[in-house]
Amino acid sequence: MFGVGNPDAQLMFVGEAPGADEDEQGEPFVGRAGQLLTKIVEAIGLTRRDVYIANVIKCRPPSNRNPEPDEVEQCQPFLFRQIDAVSPKVIVSLGKFATQSLLATADPITRIRGREYTYRSAILIPTYHPAYLLRNPSAKREVWEDMKRVRAILTESADG
Ligand code: URA
Repeated sequence: MFGVGNPDAQLMFVGEAPGADEDEQGEPFVGRAGQLLTKIVEAIGLTRRDVYIANVIKCRPPSNRNPEPDEVEQCQPFLFRQIDAVSPKVIVSLGKFATQSLLATADPITRIRGREYTYRSAILIPTYHPAYLLRNPSAKREVWEDMKRVRAILTESADG
């Protein structure tokens, strides 16, 4: 499974790997977590059609186990090409796995988020995964802070 959305998007989301719903429908982020992601996108005045959505891992890991390092390595060239082709202003990495993979770090997401990083030619903003938000709704406040920052960057660059 590749990615979905606007190939000229200014904003790109990167998740972990397709789950069962995604596997069935052939589209990233269509299950419960995906529906929450849709709401997060809409909260900053965009729709799923405006953004691009991809995963680090392109195939569903059997029985939802965590992806193995060699699987990340195999899929990484595809993700790099997607990022370079879309060339977004902002990349939002969703959750620990995507964030640690993109930034090549083992630091915990709680330490990594709340800051901005340069990633290829984009600004990377790490945030919590929507599946985590389903289990921990109180973390929505931090995600909202991150998304306000995303909106501000996109607005600044639209003015300039
Ligand atoms: N979780 C992810 O990280 N990606 C999906 O596509 C669906 C759920």
